[in-house]
Amino acid sequence: MTERRALIVGLGISGIACAIAMHRAGWTPVVVERAPARRRGGYFIAIMGVGRAAAADLGVGDRLVDHRAQSSTYVIDRQGNRSPGLSFADIPINPYLTMRGDVEDAVWQTLQDVAPDTEIHFLTSPTAIEQDSNGVEVTLEGPEGVTRKRFDLVIGADGIRSTVRRLAFPPELGGLRRLGTMICAYALQEDLPTLPRGVGGQIIEPGRSFTVFPFDDRRSTVLFSYYAADPDAERKGVHSEQIRKAFGPEPLGPILEAALRQLETSEAALFDIAEQVHLSTWYQGRVVLVGDAAWCPSLYSGMGASSGLAGANVLGKRLQKHGDDIAAALADWESTMRPRVSSFQKFAMTGVGVFTPASTDAIRIRKRAMVLLTYPVIRWLFSRLGKFLPIMQQRQRPIA
Ligand SMILES: Cc1cc2nc3c(=O)[nH]c(=O)nc-3n(C[C@H](O)[C@H](O)[C@H](O)COP(=O)(O)OP(=O)(O)OC[C@H]3O[C@@H](n4cnc5c(N)ncnc54)[C@H](O)[C@@H]3O)c2cc1C
Repeated sequence: MTERRALIVGLGISGIACAIAMHRAGWTPVVVERAPARRRGGYFIAIMGVGRAAAADLGVGDRLVDHRAQSSTYVIDRQGNRSPGLSFADIPINPYLTMRGDVEDAVWQTLQDVAPDTEIHFLTSPTAIEQDSNGVEVTLEGPEGVTRKRFDLVIGADGIRSTVRRLAFPPELGGLRRLGTMICAYALQEDLPTLPRGVGGQIIEPGRSFTVFPFDDRRSTVLFSYYAADPDAERKGVHSEQIRKAFGPEPLGPILEAALRQLETSEAALFDIAEQVHLSTWYQGRVVLVGDAAWCPSLYSGMGASSGLAGANVLGKRLQKHGDDIAAALADWESTMRPRVSSFQKFAMTGVGVFTPASTDAIRIRKRAMVLLTYPVIRWLFSRLGKFLPIMQQRQRPIA
């Protein structure tokens, strides 16, 4: 059989998982990454059953570890007074609670094991993509200058603002869809007042929230989420100043003040508009998108990394199954993934309201639900019945 080469654009969780899956399917993956090196650290993420099953299939094994904190998460006010709260640890399908960088490290180590010679070019990006029925010509710009290379398949795993999507997918197929909120996520350098290591908290006010995701073995990561009338203007501003305005005019209090002071010196904070990607198809000929580039469900779904892992895993399997018939493989792959991804995207619409309730009424309802969940019998029922909710089943069932 002749060698089949796939260009993978992007070395995030989805891109690395694609490299493993393509290697396993008998292809030669070549990766380009715009950044000068692999990213590390990041923010809290939960890996659901769909992601855990895909990681297991990809051979990631026990490199993916649950780092959940043992103590509780509380709803707190600006002074740190506590009332009952709910966290990802209470989701009745046992997600792994970890950090984005841990998941990326786990897939990266696996790639090093199975295909250590994978060609990876940093500081390199595609600037043009042209295809015919037999292959794809890609113009790449990087330290070697401008080069033109031919591949049998191009996989865009280059994130929510994908260049591959811009170059190969006409805008009428769809694109970004805003959820109305801004997000800011980063890891703390010091514990916050009243919230020692391992204790989580959430300040919930109409249209704005602040969440502390706890770990026992490292410092917490935090997330600001708030509605913004003009997200473009918001994003152009300085993150800490914009958040101070959004959480004013009331005094910030010791917890928010300490968190914002740490944001001012954080080098890796993510400050962005919360968006999803909606496309009517995820492939055009021999160019396919995977992960956030194709379907970003947003952080409110808790499924971005999990669906990226599953998308990569299933793509490799379908290409292996259909051999030289790439069109059939991509059609089969998309029809397998699309119903699941649609449900994750829909779930995110509920997730925005749970994370950042827009009104005092919504907060009141949320608060009552939290109090109810302090009763052991209700908690037990929630853990039993929650498993039967359709979205929960989607989350825990592996995608084959
Ligand atoms: C605050 C927050 C919380 C989250 N919580 C969860 C959660 O609980 N559970 C969950 O499953 N998911 C969660 N997510 C989502 C998850 O982090 C993402 O969906 C996932 O990391 C996306 O991975 P990716 O590889 O598809 O894209 P990315 O991580 O964006 O990787 C894309 C890569 O492509 C590179 N690139 C971009 N453009 C180019 C170019 N032109 N040329 C070459 N390379 C390029 C980038 O540098 C990057 O390395 C959360 C996200 C956020 C922001």
